[in-house]
Amino acid sequence: MKIDVDQNVKGKFRFNFQKNIEIILGDIPSECLAGLHKIEVIGRSYDKKCKDSFGFYCGKQASEDKLPKIVLCVESILQDMPPWIFIVISFLPRYLIAKTLFHEVGHHCQHMRHGVSGDYKEIDAKNFSRKLVRKFIRREFLWLWIILWPVIIVKRMFNKRKQIPVANV
Ligand SMILES: [Zn+2]
Repeated sequence: MKIDVDQNVKGKFRFNFQKNIEIILGDIPSECLAGLHKIEVIGRSYDKKCKDSFGFYCGKQASEDKLPKIVLCVESILQDMPPWIFIVISFLPRYLIAKTLFHEVGHHCQHMRHGVSGDYKEIDAKNFSRKLVRKFIRREFLWLWIILWPVIIVKRMFNKRKQIPVANV
């Protein structure tokens, strides 16, 4: 799948969108990405009606080249995030982009399944995104778990010992 990053966006943020989106895509089951042609990273939405939109999905009909794509509007997603965040807490921009990307992939899945209608579309995409966000966070913080697991095990053992009832004398 292609990931196109707008030149203005590249210059504005000290963040490798291509690489980070590839990391995020690793959390999405491949069957959910089937048929998706490209991900386009732009500054703000070109649709004047929803210029503050974080992103949108263009199905075959809506897309100019008749191929399904997802557009991410990163100036809306990241707003005025200070530049140091991209260096010190790169998890934060990656998380915000992941949330929007998962939501739009949810819409792509609906499009491919043809089974989700009207009002339920947004709820379904939100649920889809929520599940993948959990997976994303587990992967991002695996290192933390690896560091902390001896502490967790010792704490559990200690708690179990405390729970052993004292025999009545
Ligand atoms: Zn939506």
